Amino acid sequence: MARRKKIYEGKAKILYEGPEPGTIVQYFKDDATAFNAQKKEVIDGKGVLNNRLSEFFMTGLAQIGVPTHFIKRLNMREQLVRQVEIVPLEVIVRNYAAGTMSKRLGIEEGTQLPRPIVEYCYKDDDLGDPLVTEEHIAAFGWASQQDMDDILSLALRVNDFLSGVMMAVGIRLVDFKIEVGRVYDGDFMRLIVADEISPDSCRLWDIETGQKLDKDVFRRDLGNLTDAYTEVARRLGVMPKTSSPITKPTLIN
Ligand code: 5GP
Repeated sequence: MARRKKIYEGKAKILYEGPEPGTIVQYFKDDATAFNAQKKEVIDGKGVLNNRLSEFFMTGLAQIGVPTHFIKRLNMREQLVRQVEIVPLEVIVRNYAAGTMSKRLGIEEGTQLPRPIVEYCYKDDDLGDPLVTEEHIAAFGWASQQDMDDILSLALRVNDFLSGVMMAVGIRLVDFKIEVGRVYDGDFMRLIVADEISPDSCRLWDIETGQKLDKDVFRRDLGNLTDAYTEVARRLGVMPKTSSPITKPTLIN
């Protein structure tokens, strides 16, 4: 069988050419990185969990009419997605202060914000994904005003959906990041949710205990990341409760 063509390798995923034109195979690695890859580790099972969780969120979004790149999950670590022209922005939605917002504005982590606040960062690892304004976005042509209206609407719909789904299983959606991409149907262009939605790109806190169930566990050395992600998956009913450990294959004689 011919080897698949690798299109791109990022910090947590590899993209391969898909079987049909306009499709991509997205492979979820176990690599965890933080602080612009200054902290790195391989975390057994992370890719499997993120593949399943991203499938769960993207499928749920499609069911409420939010367009995403997700087509279908292929196996434990891979999913088939639509090829998009990625908009070079990280779109962050915050419901509670945390992370860089707390640092930047001196607001205590966990403070509820008066309303969801949307921020944009320019996707550039060398620059550390700097925060930008809509002025920068328009002036440098990264997205048009119409695109920005659509991106804001997508981001807030994703926030409503994810907040509700998480709340139902006792988890607070503190903040998250999405990426959006352009797809073309003839002359018509539309924006859809791309990349992944997983505990790598969200802050998720247990509502009762405040326990962190997201990538901050790795960033801040708070314990076992796989356990945290498994707990999210278990509560959402994504992994069967009785499933055996993800990375330790059982040898059958
Ligand atoms: P902060 O700006 O506080 O570091 O991050 C805000 C939210 O966006 C957090 O949920 C964080 O996980 C997510 N986020 C920000 N930048 C990135 C990134 O480069 N990659 C991923 N996976 N998530 C990010």
